[in-house]
Amino acid sequence: MMSGESLQAALAQFLKTHPANRLENGDRIYDEPLVGIASANDPYFLEFTKPEVIGDVFRVPADWLDGAVSVVSFFLPFSEAVRKSNRTTGLPSPEWLHARFRGEDLNNEAKRFVVSLIEAKGHRAVAPTLDGRFTQTADFRSSWSERHVAFVAGLGTFGLSRGLITAKGMAGRFGSVVTDLEITPTERPYSNPFEYCLFLSGKAQCKVCVDRCPVQAITDEGKAHPPCSSYMRREDLVQDIRNRFGYRYLACGKCQTGVPCESRIPN
Ligand code: SF4
Ligand code: SF4
Repeated sequence: MMSGESLQAALAQFLKTHPANRLENGDRIYDEPLVGIASANDPYFLEFTKPEVIGDVFRVPADWLDGAVSVVSFFLPFSEAVRKSNRTTGLPSPEWLHARFRGEDLNNEAKRFVVSLIEAKGHRAVAPTLDGRFTQTADFRSSWSERHVAFVAGLGTFGLSRGLITAKGMAGRFGSVVTDLEITPTERPYSNPFEYCLFLSGKAQCKVCVDRCPVQAITDEGKAHPPCSSYMRREDLVQDIRNRFGYRYLACGKCQTGVPCESRIPN
């Protein structure tokens, strides 16, 4: 019987031994992953299709896989080496950029790895963000949201910066796979979508992410996508990043580093 725990152990082993899980200086990109399981019929998925959440662009698990039963969600936390390098202000660190782009290739491989584990058990599996049907609208809504899925799968709650705060913080990458294999869902250890954020839960006047953002994209209302996206695509900065590293945009990430929720649930 496949369980969230056995998948987490297999994914941890995959990352531990993978040669691409390295920065240029040999430090790790990702630490040990977290895995959570959601029922494909969890009422939250339908909730996400409402305009005030994601909207009707969002596709529920059964749209991705006929007969979907479970959704495997995982978080790959960036290592201390990656996170520490980006705690500065200004442009993203070379280590952060490497982790964001090369690390995302590895995240995609991790999704394929989970698919292969499930298929080896004789079941079907789809990674929605790698599927040809995955779409994103001009107003930053997409047909599948890794963070929203991770929330349903018990991995964490949303922060003011709109990242998902997990037991290992928010600096890292998320992935997920929809399957017809029955896996026991993970119990959500929280009762509301904002419980771990100091500011949104009313625990403290944190707002460190607000001060970290170079373009004031984060306010008491949350993160506005347009200023963040315009900054990440600013031609002069992107040209520099392209010339030095070959990456296609500025993966800033300052709101995920140097914040109390960087690598843990803040208190
Ligand atoms: S930095 Fe503070 S306000 Fe911003 S997401 Fe983290 S806990 Fe919430
Ligand atoms: S990624 Fe950078 S620009 Fe975008 S919201 Fe976070 S800190 Fe601001």
